[in-house]
Amino acid sequence: MVKCSVCGREAIYISRGDGRAYCRRHFLRYFDRKVKRVIRRYGMFSKEEQIVVAVSGGKDSLSLLHYLHNLAKKVPKWEVRALLIDEGISGYREVTIKDFERVTSELGVEASIVRFKDEFGYTLDEIIRMGKERGLPYLPCTYCGVLRRYLLNKAARELGGTVLATAHNLDDVIQTFLMNVIRNSWDKVIRLGPVSGVKIHPKFVRRVKPFYEVLEKETTLYAILNGIYPREFVECPYARTNIRWYVRHYLNELEEVNPGIKYSILNSLMTSIDILKKFGIGGEGEVSTCLVCGEPSAHPVCRACTLLYELGIIDVPQSVRRYVDKLTARGRRRLD
Ligand code: SF4
Ligand code: ZN
Repeated sequence: MVKCSVCGREAIYISRGDGRAYCRRHFLRYFDRKVKRVIRRYGMFSKEEQIVVAVSGGKDSLSLLHYLHNLAKKVPKWEVRALLIDEGISGYREVTIKDFERVTSELGVEASIVRFKDEFGYTLDEIIRMGKERGLPYLPCTYCGVLRRYLLNKAARELGGTVLATAHNLDDVIQTFLMNVIRNSWDKVIRLGPVSGVKIHPKFVRRVKPFYEVLEKETTLYAILNGIYPREFVECPYARTNIRWYVRHYLNELEEVNPGIKYSILNSLMTSIDILKKFGIGGEGEVSTCLVCGEPSAHPVCRACTLLYELGIIDVPQSVRRYVDKLTARGRRRLD
């Protein structure tokens, strides 16, 4: 029996980061310290916050909601609410919504659901079909990621949120880092820090990742120990179309034979961000307002409006066509 390095009771977790073993009680203390350290180090929250937690109904986001809800009990001027974006993924999202509703009601947290169908007129399943019919080259996760990020910001702001907390953990962050390195997208790497959107646009809600240094297996254990682990495991049917699926498996295998390598990749990411900042590559500097929808955008017309235009869901005024055309798949192919 492995014993807890703190109290000698039976250990349930061995941390490869600090080489110590933890029992249930001391694992939760270790987890809490780790998250608090990140929150403090990056100044994620002030004394008065309307925190909107982006919840998918999966273990990570339910754990984050549970954690911040408990933390908020000690901070009088914090309000925590949960926001779920229902993309409309048949056989998947309806299952995770059940866990979202169960946990938010058990915690007594105000919960909101915003649907692609209501906002854009179509579900993600329908959008993917339309994209295929039009011969667009995008993968399902491209539509999903762009449109979900768009709605998260808009809905968080409309709910009065001063900060949007997402459950990206260390594994998610380093997967995205490697994916950007593979694609040579260094301008995106700089945006992978624990806090983003600080004063970049009045309509942009600041984003924070409190689980930035927490491993996925640690959020899993946190969810199990707190009785909030999803009742049924379902995987998004589109997950395997994304390179992330392969990167994730590769990193897990690498960690098996090289314990601690995930932390080392996170350190490489932080160093890369520092270097990129020094050389002024990428970043959050220039954010304007989308000429079509009025939301924050890195281009004259935002990615969401461009995709919706390419899908034939919206039209754009003639005056902005030249900007949109440059961003569409066809326009980019022409430039290549
Ligand atoms: Fe969306 Fe892709 Fe994630 Fe599925 S795997 S929820 S399509 S980003
Ligand atoms: Zn727009």
